Amino acid sequence: MAEGTGKVSGLIAAEEIEQARERIAGRVVRTPLVRSPALTDMCGVPVHLKLEHRQTTGSFKLRGATNAVLSLGEQERARGVVGVSTGNHGRGLAYAAKAAGVRCIICMSELVPGNKVAGIEALGAEVRIVGRSQDDAQVEVDRLVREAGMTMLPPFDHRAVIAGQGTLGLEILEDLPALDTVLVPLSGGGLISGLALAVKSARPEVRVIGISMERGAAMRDCQKAGKPIPVEEMTTLADSLGGGIGLENRYTFAMVRELVDDIVTLSESEIAEGIRHAYWREQEVIEGSGAVGIGALLAGKVQAEGPLVALVSGRNIDMALHHKVISGEEPDIYGET
Ligand SMILES: *Cc1c(COP(=O)(O)O)cnc(C)c1O
Repeated sequence: MAEGTGKVSGLIAAEEIEQARERIAGRVVRTPLVRSPALTDMCGVPVHLKLEHRQTTGSFKLRGATNAVLSLGEQERARGVVGVSTGNHGRGLAYAAKAAGVRCIICMSELVPGNKVAGIEALGAEVRIVGRSQDDAQVEVDRLVREAGMTMLPPFDHRAVIAGQGTLGLEILEDLPALDTVLVPLSGGGLISGLALAVKSARPEVRVIGISMERGAAMRDCQKAGKPIPVEEMTTLADSLGGGIGLENRYTFAMVRELVDDIVTLSESEIAEGIRHAYWREQEVIEGSGAVGIGALLAGKVQAEGPLVALVSGRNIDMALHHKVISGEEPDIYGET
């Protein structure tokens, strides 16, 4: 992976992130960067939290989705967009499309819980329930693309999505020009690819570290293997980090290889500690995937050398589960939720 000084990826240009910023300005929240006194004390260097869980729809996914929807041509817009995600990408896409006046259909299987269906509908998307698996839902998406000319917008491996997530890097640089290290939750890698490209284009020496869960760290395993490989998905508190990177991966595998300095993984109890710290010490409700940066610091898994930023990426956690975690219950019981 990156030596920290090299050239930045030629796959996507840094200017695309600047353009994304202009395109999505006023449509997404410019979230605050705040110093954490508790983590600063603990680490001995200034630690800041980028509070992106306060983004509209509860995660940064709105940035990439908004940039992707607004980048469509007139005809594509008229025909609408489709997706399969029932999580943060689905929420972001539903909202972004509605805000731009573009039709959006999210396909999902019968097994998706009713509250998730209602959540996506409330954000303005049409929900189409098909079959009993994610694969069945994908078949319907493919049909809508083929027969209705709709555009499928994926959650991470897409240049406008990556550029949109990269706007977070520009904001962090503006608020803390002297930063040394950024900790970024890592799944498919759209977030870390865009962010690292933005930051390293201006400051190549900044360290960008990806944080995943031990249970199903797809990008880490693929980087180790030297190519995209299938990775088994498991239940985890960091549920927004689950899933593979796609065997036909076009951008994020290569960008992570070139731009990311290290990938660290956390146990379920270390993720739970991150959620607890955020609640009791920072007064923030965050989901497991958003808590991994804090969790990595608490677990001593990242060497803090200079001003550090932990990106808090989302807040969409089931509140009954959150209540259990902050009350101190241990993660091995979470399997049943
Ligand atoms: C999607 C997501 C991530 C990971 O983003 P990738 O671009 O897939 O690496 C991290 N945190 C939250 C809350 C997410 O929804």
